[in-house]
Amino acid sequence: MMTAPPTRIESGVEYIESLRGRKLRVYLFGERVEEPVDHPMIRGSINAVARTYDLGIEQPDLATAWSTLSNRRVNRFLHVTESVDDVVGQNRMQRRLGQLTGTCFQRCVGMDAINALYSTTFEMDQAHATPYHARFRQFVIKMQEANYVIGGAMTDPKGDRSKAPADQTDPDMFVRIIERRPDGVVIRGAKMHQTGCLNSHWIVVMPTMRLRAADKDYAIVAAIPVDHPGLTFIYGRQSCDTRSMEGGDIDQGNAQFAGQEAMILIDDVFVPNELIFMNGETDFAAMLVERFTSYHRRSYVCKTGLGDVIIGAAALAADYNGVEKVSHVRDKLVEMAHLNETIYGAGIAASHESQPTAAGNYQPDDLLANVCKHNVTRFPYEIARLAQDLAGGLVATLPSEKDFKNPETGPLLNKYLKGRDGVRVEDRARILRLIENMTLGRNAVGYLTESMHGAGSPQAQRIQIARQMNLEAKKEMAKSLAGIPNNKTVTES
Ligand SMILES: Cc1cc2nc3c(=O)[nH]c(=O)nc-3n(C[C@H](O)[C@H](O)[C@H](O)COP(=O)(O)OP(=O)(O)OC[C@H]3O[C@@H](n4cnc5c(N)ncnc54)[C@H](O)[C@@H]3O)c2cc1C
Repeated sequence: MMTAPPTRIESGVEYIESLRGRKLRVYLFGERVEEPVDHPMIRGSINAVARTYDLGIEQPDLATAWSTLSNRRVNRFLHVTESVDDVVGQNRMQRRLGQLTGTCFQRCVGMDAINALYSTTFEMDQAHATPYHARFRQFVIKMQEANYVIGGAMTDPKGDRSKAPADQTDPDMFVRIIERRPDGVVIRGAKMHQTGCLNSHWIVVMPTMRLRAADKDYAIVAAIPVDHPGLTFIYGRQSCDTRSMEGGDIDQGNAQFAGQEAMILIDDVFVPNELIFMNGETDFAAMLVERFTSYHRRSYVCKTGLGDVIIGAAALAADYNGVEKVSHVRDKLVEMAHLNETIYGAGIAASHESQPTAAGNYQPDDLLANVCKHNVTRFPYEIARLAQDLAGGLVATLPSEKDFKNPETGPLLNKYLKGRDGVRVEDRARILRLIENMTLGRNAVGYLTESMHGAGSPQAQRIQIARQMNLEAKKEMAKSLAGIPNNKTVTES
């Protein structure tokens, strides 16, 4: 198991090598995958994470930060924020990586978990005299020194959504402690939709919701190495995923980069005390979930990087058709940019409004973070609709790369699929496939469905917005301007 750090990982190539030979129990299409790194359906997601390492080398100001924890520059995804600028810097890096990969690059969840846990463990220790914060700092230092990828494992299967963890018919519907020992705990359960979990070196398991005293066994935060033999991964399918196994590089739309979600089964895994950061403190589960989601919801500004790509693709499709300057086309491109920047505006504002926690790291503004994520559940769908509008029907009916290469059909396709003069038919096909990839195909998971459900479905943000919209203060403002006296209910006679 990967408990002792190897030599530090610096580049994307070194990162990819660090994933080899781990003998993970990974299942895909009903079969065990011997080496995920070499599987064509998985490789695109590994490439996307590798890009985060290379950005750290190419643009260190954007993708790394000085950490006073380990007294060195560290990858920003592993950095505990020390200023408002650090929180803002995360968003700037996320947008850039969205532009570079056109998909989910999978590391935000770990970054947001580190930051939420840093302050929550500090406050837990103050309330309960527990030892979690010092342990957690040691864990983060180890991750920073080896430059590892951490996955944040929060979402449980949840069974009957109307019931709390301890009330479920099957007690394993939420990850739980099945045995407490002097030197650690044994946990069991599953985590769903785990972004980039196979591409991580460690996962941090956290509760998914507010807990009651009766849910004590579900209040567990623990770090587990991904190559622990008690973990099994079942890979989630994505629309059009098998195109990566057909050869060629046009039909995939984005042949280099893809996202990854898998289900993790945790089969009675022993976690030693030094890797446990919550153990039964049900009163702190809500704080952890709220701090994590606040970070994570404004992390969804990454989707504006994907938005930049899709706006560019739509503009190119219109250009290749000879209509880029037509007024309704310009107007649709402006609308797409407006929606995209509205998402970014709320996210970056949440980061700018960060406040220090008692532990000393910085926490984004929760109301604005929720507004950002709520916009993300809506605006990418409209941006995708407009991109498909500008692309034309060919986005869904284009023949395959193999038909272009066939000596009989190829010349006919090249003749009849020509757009304006001076544009290669192949370039037109490539841009249409990219739009398909992001709005209907593989990376629509990263651009649309993840935007809808990742970091919580829309209603979860509406609940947080309702809690914080301070309606009473707003009523007082209105009353004051309308000349209605305070503290008086006026009823009509
Ligand atoms: C692409 C993708 C990537 C993800 N990555 C990660 C990850 O890396 N780590 C992680 O931990 N999680 C991840 N998630 C999980 C994500 O956080 C959840 O999908 C989200 O919280 C919704 O949970 P659910 O899927 O179980 O849906 P549900 O909770 O079942 O929600 C479905 C619908 O039912 C409603 N609903 C649910 N319960 C109730 C209730 N009690 N009362 C009323 N309405 C209810 C919801 O509002 C929603 O409309 C990811 C999800 C996706 C799609």
